[in-house]
Amino acid sequence: MNNLVWFRNDLRVRDNISLAKACSGNQVLGIYCFDPVLFRIGDYGFKKTERFRARFLIETIIQLKDNLKKLNIPLFVYVDNPEKRIPKFIGEHDVHTVFLQKEWTQEENETRDAVVAKVSSSVNFEESYDQFLFHPDDIPYVSFQQIPRVFTKFRKKCETYTRVRPVLESPKAKPSTNLIENNTVVPSLRDLGLSNLSNDTRTAFPFQGGETNAQKRVQDYFWETQKLAFYKKTRNGLVGQGYSSKLSPWLANGSISARTIYWEVKEFERTVKKNQDTYWLVFELIWRDFFKYVSLKHGNQIFRIEGILNKKYDWKTSKKITEQWISGQTEDPFINANMREIARTGWMSNRGRQNVASFWSRVLEQDWRIGAAYFESMLLDYDVHSNWGNWMYNSGVGNDPRNRIFNSKRQAERYDPNGKFQALWLQETLF
Ligand SMILES: Cc1cc2nc3c(=O)[nH]c(=O)nc-3n(C[C@H](O)[C@H](O)[C@H](O)COP(=O)(O)OP(=O)(O)OC[C@H]3O[C@@H](n4cnc5c(N)ncnc54)[C@H](O)[C@@H]3O)c2cc1C
Repeated sequence: MNNLVWFRNDLRVRDNISLAKACSGNQVLGIYCFDPVLFRIGDYGFKKTERFRARFLIETIIQLKDNLKKLNIPLFVYVDNPEKRIPKFIGEHDVHTVFLQKEWTQEENETRDAVVAKVSSSVNFEESYDQFLFHPDDIPYVSFQQIPRVFTKFRKKCETYTRVRPVLESPKAKPSTNLIENNTVVPSLRDLGLSNLSNDTRTAFPFQGGETNAQKRVQDYFWETQKLAFYKKTRNGLVGQGYSSKLSPWLANGSISARTIYWEVKEFERTVKKNQDTYWLVFELIWRDFFKYVSLKHGNQIFRIEGILNKKYDWKTSKKITEQWISGQTEDPFINANMREIARTGWMSNRGRQNVASFWSRVLEQDWRIGAAYFESMLLDYDVHSNWGNWMYNSGVGNDPRNRIFNSKRQAERYDPNGKFQALWLQETLF
């Protein structure tokens, strides 16, 4: 009888609840499916996953496979729908229990249900929430319906009543006897129907995917350069790798846990420095949790045009305006610079994201979901809850109590006073 870990957005060996639970059994196998659905055109006309995140994911799976191999756990990798591949795999490999991270958005639920429906009822599925800083069982709310609409309320209550769980001990290697042969290979971009990608030297995210690379980034940002000690002062930056932690792409696919980062901050505070800046990184991780709880509370409402506020606006949809926004050819140079950055690198700063989202939805009055779907396609760090939650927030249909519209000219003057960022991205015609 084998235990199977079905990896989804928990692509790590360290501090992985499903893997730790599976390792209590004798023989452990891992499976990962590159689901072709995620590389096709979605509802708004964009590929659900473009090359930037696809390549990052490939790099991530290569490292996961290597790291699991060191524990004598084979990772079987397929380009196939989970609902087709996993039931077959379970049948062929005498699987007793499947361990997986609990997701709750519609597409992920449908995929899981389709897998469960196709396997014998004697196979157990054990799901664990593993993407949070504050575990859902530990928060001071009896049900998700009680999650407040305003972030500050949520943060203060959780900070008072909830402790972040410790990081799990790393699993011990399994015996190397009876290893099951694994001839599966990690696909290339081409295997996923995508063309190759050349690197843009201007990128603020020059890193590769994978758990080991995530740990290296923590090592560098926290310990070697000690940039964490200045985080709050630099986090609104626009140019280069140092202005913020850049941990989001690894967090989004679970190459590193939020708990690991939290405890690393605590260690830094204990041994190097504790200040507003070190606290602020945790503050931002709480934002990340908040959007997950908003999505748990509101379900599919986060994808609807009225958002969670049920607000009606006169949304427009213009193909021409969409093309101008995407290609960075609007009348606003600061918006254009940011849009060119994401088109060329899959990355955009938080300051940039707020501005282009507000410009798209509040100034151009275009259907905010088109912008969110474009981000979903392009972003290296796409995370369903953070993306759709932040888009709602910036589009006047979400959690912003102030319902702000960004003045991009003033924002450019404040955050790009010498025009360095704009010069970097506007110096050439890209399209
Ligand atoms: C329109 C829009 C769309 C966004 N889409 C995504 C997305 O798909 N995935 C994503 O991870 N973030 C998203 N964000 C949030 C934020 O922009 C990024 O998390 C951040 O820029 C990542 O850079 P960093 O890792 O250097 O962040 P840091 O400033 O170093 O922050 C540390 C971590 O805190 C979390 N965090 C920071 N700000 C936010 C925030 N506003 N909301 C949620 N979590 C936050 C991230 O996990 C981040 O890695 C979006 C923001 C906007 C305005």
